[in-house]
Amino acid sequence: AKAQQLPDKKVDSLCPYCGVGCQLTYHIKDQQIIAVEGRDGPANHARLCVKGRYGFDYAHHPQRLTVPLIRRSDAPKRADLEIDPANIMQVFREASWEEALNFAAGKLVTLRDQHGKRSLAGFGSAKGSNEEAYLFQKLVRVGFGSNNVDHCTRLCHASSVAALLEGLGSGGVSNPVMDVALAEVIIVIGANPGVNHPVGASWIKNAIKQGSKLIVCDPRRSGLARQAHRFLQFTPDTDVALLNAMMHVIIEEDLIDHAFIEQRTSGFEAIRQNVLSYTPELMAPLCGIDAGTIREVARLYASARTAMIFWGMGVSQHIHGTDNVRCLIALALMTGQIGRPGTGLHPLRGQNNVQGASDAGLIPMMFPDYQRVADPANITKFEQAWQLAPGTLDTQPGLTVVEIMHAIVQDEPQGKIRGMYIMGENPAMSDPDVNQARASLAALEHLVVQDIFLTETACFADVILPASAFPEKTGSFTNTDRTIQLGRQAIEPPGAARQDLWIIQQIAARMGLAWNYPQVSDVFEEMRHTMPDIAGISWQRLERDGAVTYPCLHEEDAGEAVVFTSHFPTKDGRARFVAAGLIPANEKPDANYPMVLITGRQLEHWHTGSMTRRTAVLDTLEPDPVALIHADDLLALQIAPGDIITLTSRRGEVSLYARADNSSPRGSVFVPFCYYEAAINKLTNSALDPYGKIPEFKYCAVKIVAGGEI
Ligand code: SF4
Repeated sequence: AKAQQLPDKKVDSLCPYCGVGCQLTYHIKDQQIIAVEGRDGPANHARLCVKGRYGFDYAHHPQRLTVPLIRRSDAPKRADLEIDPANIMQVFREASWEEALNFAAGKLVTLRDQHGKRSLAGFGSAKGSNEEAYLFQKLVRVGFGSNNVDHCTRLCHASSVAALLEGLGSGGVSNPVMDVALAEVIIVIGANPGVNHPVGASWIKNAIKQGSKLIVCDPRRSGLARQAHRFLQFTPDTDVALLNAMMHVIIEEDLIDHAFIEQRTSGFEAIRQNVLSYTPELMAPLCGIDAGTIREVARLYASARTAMIFWGMGVSQHIHGTDNVRCLIALALMTGQIGRPGTGLHPLRGQNNVQGASDAGLIPMMFPDYQRVADPANITKFEQAWQLAPGTLDTQPGLTVVEIMHAIVQDEPQGKIRGMYIMGENPAMSDPDVNQARASLAALEHLVVQDIFLTETACFADVILPASAFPEKTGSFTNTDRTIQLGRQAIEPPGAARQDLWIIQQIAARMGLAWNYPQVSDVFEEMRHTMPDIAGISWQRLERDGAVTYPCLHEEDAGEAVVFTSHFPTKDGRARFVAAGLIPANEKPDANYPMVLITGRQLEHWHTGSMTRRTAVLDTLEPDPVALIHADDLLALQIAPGDIITLTSRRGEVSLYARADNSSPRGSVFVPFCYYEAAINKLTNSALDPYGKIPEFKYCAVKIVAGGEI
């Protein structure tokens, strides 16, 4: 029996889940993954979390899509439509690849030619490879003819990227996670890495054991908070008040780095003026942290020889998310805590390739490598690189995720969206105010969905193209540290499912584009010639080294793990301070909706759950939709743990199980967004941060009542 467990082969690849980018090895027997082990990658040194180690059997799930499907002519689309995968053939019929591709691309061409280039849009995926992201955005820009291309970075760190580009000239992290070993002080704010980046969190815990002081700032008490030197459980929505008060102390007590400010930054005087009135004593009642503690942590951070700041979506997913990040940048700049090992700013990336998908141009205002579409020089550069006639590319930035959903049902100045191609994203679960998002998807004249399962989004498709899962393809992926690594194919796609790169090229061919990328390496080769930051990374080097960090400007360049050491990549080489004031959440609790809803993730499940809820071990650990509520609030509501409750906002309601959890502050409720049977985004607010266009997932008003049906 033991011999039967021995693998036929082992394939070195990557974890498909979070942005830490753990390297792993698949053990394969009879075309099935039978085990996963960690290997010695730069970010994980053989460590894996529960998702990486056990979250692989989704690839073999019986609900995998294995044949192209076309919606039956008598199967209408409705916003409330939910198809049981067991009844999928009542709504769709099987089709050949030829028929499905002709139908998918043909209707896109018809809509484009009848209603104009901006009538189409595409969502790519942070779960796909860099090469898939690059080809997808090229298809939208060249084949569709507009910049209406985006992906889920809009929903996680768009505000972080907006602030970082504005302040530092680069949207990536300044230092890798591993630098915590060199940091005297570590601030983790609005992030729960123990749940969302578990191996990254393990390096923070190691650093604490070696003497680093951890400061956790969060409205929710994370597991990491237990090991913190100081835990600041600030009132939700008061990030700017807390951070401006810290800056007030640092300036008042002259803990600033005068030389760094003078030589490497601009705009300090405006910040100094701005924070004058933010005394800790005035801000304490607002943010719920006493003035003495604010002063203490400000001194700790500013006085440390080395200090790092990590943040997550607790910071970014607000209508003032960009302002929150502007404050973090200003803290680092005024204290000179950037540009050296053990210092810097690290927005923890969520998906395994959200960094790479953004780098590759899956964003509506930038070509690959953050080259703005509004700059005529970049238009010329990409028209030449892609061998297009002058004037082919659209100079107008495209619409973002939520804007595209709105433009389907209402006339935007840029025109109405009538057709979409969605590759590997699930906006019918992940978008805010998802009842409206589903109504938008139902209203599309043509929707092409490329995925591995019948997702909630695929239920609205006119044609479904069965794609390959992570272990079924080869490609490069960029982790939160800006390190590009190779995921290698370990098994074949099931049935007639095909590689995503092949599908994109088939659509492109039917839209009149004569592309020729026989190998994934051919796509990467084109990328490195249009993206200066990765110019020095060849496919051969990736195959040989397995991981290379950018910026890597030429082939002899070792790559830079720590950036901004001598200058910032801005026009004048200086970083810029940008001041932030107090902007309240778009929707505050009131008598009708007295609680604050905070959404997020669980350790065992990944995003909208399409993979992990089809993974035996993970779904056994967390099988049911839950709402985490402070025990005192449950008592006051006369609800027992395990009871079914109904949460309602102005936009919708869901029923799920109550769980007593004192990590949530009183007056708030935390709900993971992975449960289709209780899609919590039916309740969230689609109000946007004006700079990053990110929705306010971390704050809206709800009420809780006992009872309901799951
Ligand atoms: Fe995968 Fe992230 Fe866990 Fe590593 S920490 S095994 S990358 S989910």
